[in-house]
Amino acid sequence: MRCPLCTTNDTRVVDSRQAEEGRTIRRRRACPSCGHRFTTFERAAVVVVIKRDGRCQPFDASKVRLGVDITLADRPVPQDAVDDIIATVERAAYTSQDSIHADEIGAIVLDGLRDLDEVGYLRFASVYKEFQKASDFEREVAALDIEEPVND
Ligand SMILES: [Zn+2]
Repeated sequence: MRCPLCTTNDTRVVDSRQAEEGRTIRRRRACPSCGHRFTTFERAAVVVVIKRDGRCQPFDASKVRLGVDITLADRPVPQDAVDDIIATVERAAYTSQDSIHADEIGAIVLDGLRDLDEVGYLRFASVYKEFQKASDFEREVAALDIEEPVND
């Protein structure tokens, strides 16, 4: 761990103890170069996804990617655009406390797809928002502000 003050690369752990009922390890570190002391927190990079029915499962970015890939299977969307969406989801998941709602993940993906691909957006929205009625689709299409083709 690098010293945040003088950026020396090798700092020493002078104390290590559990916090948050063992979910976190708190370490005091000392820099041999400038003498600065600082604290680090270590926690498992496990985030729980809370599904709509209340069930939980570990967050898995590859599952999110699979869902997006299926949605965009035949769409001309560049892979790095999908990478960006997944990266945004991962950032949200890992900066959350310990859990993230499935709805939140869905909202991030929808946000990314909205500007990327209208068809993909509507497909994902139809699953994510569990559309029941055609009017739901119409409302989403209206929200996208797609221009209707003009018939002469
Ligand atoms: Zn230092």
